[in-house]
Amino acid sequence: MPRPLRVVIVGAGVSGSGVAAGLVRAGAASGFSAEVELVDPRPSPGAGLTYAPGGDPRHRVNVPSIRMAAVAGPPAGEAKEGEEEDFHRWCLESGVLEADLAGWADGLHYPARSVFGRYLDERLRALFSAAGPVRVTHRRDRAVAARRLESARGAGFVVELAGGRMLEADALVLCTGNPGPELPGVLAGLAGHKRVVADPWAPGALDPIGRTDRVLIVGTGLTMGDVVSTLLGRGHRGPLTALSRHGLVPRSRPAGHADSWTDFTADPPAGVRDLLRRVRAAVADAGRQGRPWTDVLESLRLQNGALWTALPIEERRRFQRHLRPWWDAHRFQAAPQVARLVASAQTDGRLSVLAGRLVGANADADSSGTRGDEGGGLWVLYRPRGGDALTGRTYDALVNCTGAGHGASFGRNPLLAALTAQGLIRPDPLGLGVEVDRQRRALDAGGRPVTSLFVVGPPTRGSLGEVTGSSEIVPHALAVAGALTAWRHGMFPRSP
Ligand SMILES: Cc1cc2nc3c(=O)[nH]c(=O)nc-3n(C[C@H](O)[C@H](O)[C@H](O)COP(=O)(O)OP(=O)(O)OC[C@H]3O[C@@H](n4cnc5c(N)ncnc54)[C@H](O)[C@@H]3O)c2cc1C
Repeated sequence: MPRPLRVVIVGAGVSGSGVAAGLVRAGAASGFSAEVELVDPRPSPGAGLTYAPGGDPRHRVNVPSIRMAAVAGPPAGEAKEGEEEDFHRWCLESGVLEADLAGWADGLHYPARSVFGRYLDERLRALFSAAGPVRVTHRRDRAVAARRLESARGAGFVVELAGGRMLEADALVLCTGNPGPELPGVLAGLAGHKRVVADPWAPGALDPIGRTDRVLIVGTGLTMGDVVSTLLGRGHRGPLTALSRHGLVPRSRPAGHADSWTDFTADPPAGVRDLLRRVRAAVADAGRQGRPWTDVLESLRLQNGALWTALPIEERRRFQRHLRPWWDAHRFQAAPQVARLVASAQTDGRLSVLAGRLVGANADADSSGTRGDEGGGLWVLYRPRGGDALTGRTYDALVNCTGAGHGASFGRNPLLAALTAQGLIRPDPLGLGVEVDRQRRALDAGGRPVTSLFVVGPPTRGSLGEVTGSSEIVPHALAVAGALTAWRHGMFPRSP
């Protein structure tokens, strides 16, 4: 009987827990055996950064509970009728649906993200503690380094944890998720200022903001909606301003179910211009048939991996430069409660949304931007979109809502830095994360896939397209679990 496969998974959010859950299921189904070390300092398996317990209850999942997927309930294809909606049923059984009246909109329930975290924690703990041939140990520690270990058993890894423990692995899976936002270069001079919130996802990040402060929110996406919800929910009375290059705010999640409308993959567009033209034509066509634009978006969501990988790198770059803000505002829709709050705050003047490019900033400045005494305001200079004149304004606090700092994660995450230094991983050409092949194996410094080193989740988006939402991550996590299981059966895809 072969000895169990030793797998170290770094990161226990939706991605890492998903791979572990996939392995447990494979063990139960086929007798495949493995020792899995799931490394993450956070207490809850599944929650990761996004669904951490104790988060603001106003921060809601942007997908209704009935469609919020994770590898926690019964596996797709094996679920009995109604079981696919495991999270929704859990909300019903645990009394969440009844207690959370504010979570209902248009007949659907949008629970707090921390509630989804509680669900994942409960289901995954039960799954991981059940006796079976795959054993999962959650190590509450941080992986700080890893190196290749060549032995008679083949090429594996030794993973070093901050607490000093060394873990030997036949396979290493990186699921390090969304790194906190990076302060844009133009705001670098404000770093460390007590009223500048560089990472709004950190617990208690907004606490230093006073109730009457004039607040500048840099970025107008979903995190802006969270920040506005928290501040207004706390009784904030000062003016809020949100600024981004295009001033686009996320669309509200529509009530109806979106059905995929078009197959763009049969003849994938070779460039961004062609893609845009075909999307516009599909939206017009859908409209003529009485279908909403969200049906076309659903097609793009489901097919985005195939479309993205068919685009040459230069076209992917063009997408990032020109289309990304439009894609994000339409694709990452806000829960209706959050969208309505943002819209009503704009209507009643509590929130202004501006389109413009930041060009300068100064801390402790007077209204002309001149640096003065400590305790002065945060002076920000921006160029309104479509204009030449510069506008300078003073704020009391600034919140950076520019999204995950994927590009900076190599420097900030010591594990990724150590693997890069050894040439075992490299950034993708767009600087969005770790470069992988289609089997989600990391590419080394020379562009060769590294056998038994996998990456799952948001860090793969530069290579594989949108691997951001929970429902997109799940198939990737299960595919890696499948590859590891197959490997044990001697079918692991060989490096060229
Ligand atoms: C603010 C926010 C809101 C979102 N809302 C939604 C939503 O409503 N619906 C939706 O579908 N998607 C949402 N998303 C998308 C989100 O990316 C996915 O849903 C999913 O949670 C990502 O899971 P993950 O495991 O890849 O990453 P994460 O949740 O970021 O987890 C990564 C984990 O890796 C750990 N880690 C990193 N480095 C190390 C290391 N060296 N050693 C040990 N552990 C390490 C971290 O501690 C963390 O727990 C949201 C994302 C953000 C940032």
